[in-house]
Amino acid sequence: MTTDTKQLWINTLNEVELNISKANFTTWFKNTSVVKEEGGIVYISVPNEFVKDWIINKYHKFILKTLRNLSDSVRGLEYIISRDEKGIKNIQIVLGANAGPSNELPLKDLYINKEDNLNPRYVFDSFVVGSFNELAYAAAKAIVEKPVLYNPLFIYGGTGLGKTHLIQAVGNEVKNKGGKKVHYITSEKFTVDCVTAIQSGRANFFKEKYRKYDVLIIDDVQFFSGKERTQEELFHLFNELYNNNKQIIFSSDKHPSYIPNLEDRLKSRFSAGMTVDVSLPEYESRLAIIKTKALESGFVLPLEVVEYVASLVQGNIRELEGILNSIICQSQLKGKELGLSDVKALIKNNIKPKKSISAKEVIKIIADFYSVEEGSIYEKTRRKDIVKPRQIAMYLLREDFGISFPSIGQKMGGRDHTTVIHSCEKIKNELKNDGVLFQEIEQIRSIF
Ligand code: ADP
Ligand code: MG
Repeated sequence: MTTDTKQLWINTLNEVELNISKANFTTWFKNTSVVKEEGGIVYISVPNEFVKDWIINKYHKFILKTLRNLSDSVRGLEYIISRDEKGIKNIQIVLGANAGPSNELPLKDLYINKEDNLNPRYVFDSFVVGSFNELAYAAAKAIVEKPVLYNPLFIYGGTGLGKTHLIQAVGNEVKNKGGKKVHYITSEKFTVDCVTAIQSGRANFFKEKYRKYDVLIIDDVQFFSGKERTQEELFHLFNELYNNNKQIIFSSDKHPSYIPNLEDRLKSRFSAGMTVDVSLPEYESRLAIIKTKALESGFVLPLEVVEYVASLVQGNIRELEGILNSIICQSQLKGKELGLSDVKALIKNNIKPKKSISAKEVIKIIADFYSVEEGSIYEKTRRKDIVKPRQIAMYLLREDFGISFPSIGQKMGGRDHTTVIHSCEKIKNELKNDGVLFQEIEQIRSIF
């Protein structure tokens, strides 16, 4: 290739850069290069299908026009995928380095670091990428490479679609690179922290604590809705971090514009960087997710079983995991691999189509499961046999149904949200070591 051709592409990129946002330029053009010019056709190398499609749809005309302005001999433009890390299909299956056969059940939370609240399970290696989440994935990866490239990064989408996994993966990867202080917190804990600090006259301590992070990740910011005092503190904290070039990452179940009772100035801060959504995984991605998760637990499922589950469960990824766990549990109990008919029977008996189910029904199911009076769950009694199902109810309402802590408190007979947070934490911790509890909870889940 001539130096002229190389220079031609450099000049073209300079022109493109002037005309689009910095974020877009980095995302779509950073990894492009010119391969050759032949018969008036310029061949550009792009890293994968996804980028190729995106460039063709959004920038092809503009690039071609620019090339032609710079050189009379150019007639056309072609794209070549040169370094397709993800294979030609836009699905990626990567297993964690230590994935391998094991008879242990995949415990939800292995070990959560108390300092930064990061769960080491949530890494990019175990994150399946498909067209439903590719943009969010690309943005997340981009800020690991180049912090504050997008600031803030705001990821939104329905429950169980991988938001927490993805934003924690950023945290874990930045942390493992070393040198940066990362902190993950849910919006509810942040709110409690903020309100407690103010009430005890330690607002300054609160401010100092949060502004020292290089990467601050706040999960489920829709729960800031209506929390005026916390919103005010968050606004100032945001400005402080932002002005000091610190990376801020948010997740929410909806786009910032649709979060009710959120100050306009926060809405505009939330959407000032990169705002991307995750949607429901399509069939191909569901297949990839089931295969990956089974392998992570050391199980290889027959293809027909994988296909059956992928076609049956169209909902979120947490649901897919739930069914998979039931299959694994059952196959361990029986001591054999389950065939399609076993799995069909299991699903028929245990997994009803997920209807919208009320908190009251959830509580009833749990009370029945532990053979206690439904009413006693709502009461104040501290009897051990009641406390456990009560705490599990709070945990499941939070984990599986995404209900806010205050609202769970209200539904559980008017309990304080700090009690709810405490209960959820307690169950989470117990799950780390208690295999029996894990199985009980999985069984309860399969009844919902
Ligand atoms: P959200 O925060 O959007 O409600 P989570 O991040 O908690 O969803 O995801 C729910 C479960 O599904 C988690 O166990 C997570 O590890 C898993 N999960 C979600 N998305 C993916 C993905 N793309 N690949 C692998 N596992 C995923
Ligand atoms: Mg989440």
